[in-house]
Amino acid sequence: MELNENARIDTSQVDDRRGSGGGGGMGIPIPIGGGRGGIVGIIIAVLVALIGGGFGLNAMNGGGSDQGDNTSLERKCSAQDALEQLDCRNTAYVNSIQAYWRTALPEVFGEQYRPSKTVFFSQNVNTGCGAADSGVGPFYCPADDLVYIDLTFYRLLADQLGAEGEFAQPYVLAHEYGHHVQDLLGTEAQMRRQQQRDPNNANALSVKLELQADCYAGAWAKNATGTADEQGQKIFKSVTEQDIQQAIDTAEKIGDDAIQKRAGRPVNPDEFTHGTSEQRKQWFTKGYSTGDPKACDTFGGTL
Ligand SMILES: [Zn+2]
Repeated sequence: MELNENARIDTSQVDDRRGSGGGGGMGIPIPIGGGRGGIVGIIIAVLVALIGGGFGLNAMNGGGSDQGDNTSLERKCSAQDALEQLDCRNTAYVNSIQAYWRTALPEVFGEQYRPSKTVFFSQNVNTGCGAADSGVGPFYCPADDLVYIDLTFYRLLADQLGAEGEFAQPYVLAHEYGHHVQDLLGTEAQMRRQQQRDPNNANALSVKLELQADCYAGAWAKNATGTADEQGQKIFKSVTEQDIQQAIDTAEKIGDDAIQKRAGRPVNPDEFTHGTSEQRKQWFTKGYSTGDPKACDTFGGTL
């Protein structure tokens, strides 16, 4: 993958709350992904939550209203070496993902895209879904329509999960924006209602939502090199087969079965909330090979 150094990095699509001291020192571990009681290490908590929908966060404080300060990010990302900086590169990914959906959502689904910012935070943060800490991994909060990520998460992804490829990063973000799209299309709300009607299938339904977000990430990946900044400068110069392989690799490493195995636990499909390695790989690949979000019908018309 090569980003285009001539593209303008639009930091207004990000809310940098890293300097703000986080979420008021709540520091409370947030359970996420229901039915996961028992002894779990931090890594498991992270994995379970990884690119989860942000549901299950405790609404501890009635929602966050913290505001970040983008001053230093703005300065950094307009400098010559901006693309060497992790936060600037991630901002560029967000720019590309949203540029894609701005066109694709009306084209494919006849709906207007509404932008959603990504909040960079460190350690903990107040959100519309409650207080969260880094342990939950990146997530989307449907209550405030924001994506949240502590960028140090990528180190964990690389060091502890072996998902080292750089393309793991835009894949994670594109998955989260996939949840935003589901929110805009009403898919997520429909799914929640279906879960209430059919509680025995709640996890299976959650898996479908997650796999669809993986598929949407694949559709973005296919179209990433077509995305541009406001001046029409391409954001990506190239996305290679190797990059795609890295995304697939990441999808595999964070499959529910892989996570359970890694935790030394028996593989129990009833506890799956995000899908198996094979499923995640398959749906990302489907999105990528078709480049068409319409092909991401993981619900098979059952919603
Ligand atoms: Zn997810």
